[in-house]
Amino acid sequence: MSYFKFCPNCASQNIEFENHRRFECFDCGMVYYQNVAAAVAVIMERNDEILFTVRNREPKLGMLDLPGGFTDSDETSEETCQRELMEELDLEIPLENFNYFKSQPNNYLYKGIPYKTEDLVFIAQFPENAELKLEESEIREIKWIKKSEIRLEEIGFDSLRKAVEEYIEMEVG
Ligand SMILES: [Zn+2]
Repeated sequence: MSYFKFCPNCASQNIEFENHRRFECFDCGMVYYQNVAAAVAVIMERNDEILFTVRNREPKLGMLDLPGGFTDSDETSEETCQRELMEELDLEIPLENFNYFKSQPNNYLYKGIPYKTEDLVFIAQFPENAELKLEESEIREIKWIKKSEIRLEEIGFDSLRKAVEEYIEMEVG
C-alpha cells in the first residue's frame, strides 16, 4: 500500500515507498525520506487536576487531548510548548517552566496519510487565575480532570494515553 502512485519528479510508476519512510524512483533515481516528525504535549497541572482539551477536528474528533502540536523548523521543543499554549489557549508560560517528562512514539493519520511522530511530553504548572481563550477550530472545550478520575480510554492518541498513564503511576508511586 502506498499513497504515492507516481514519482513527483518524473511521473514514473516504477517506484517503491517502503513503510512510508523511504521513497525511491527506479527511473530517475529520486530518493525521498519521510522522516519522523517531532511534536510536543503539555501536562498542565493545577492542584490534583490536569488540563485536557477536547478535540474539535479530526483525527480523534471529540476525544481528550493534551495541549501541544508539531514542532516547527528551527524551534526548540520548549518553544513549541510555549507557542502551542499561546495559540490553543491564549496562555503564556515562560520557557523555563516546561519540565521534560518523557517521549512516546505516535501514529498520526491525517487525511488518509499516516505520519510517524515522536511526542515529547512536558509538565508545567498552571498559573493561578490565568484566563483562557480557546482556539475554537482546534478545541471544543477544556476539562480539568482529577488524576484519580482520568479515564485513559477517553484520550485520543495512544502516545498520550501511555504518557498520562505513566504520569499517574509516578504520582501515586
Ligand atoms: Zn522519477
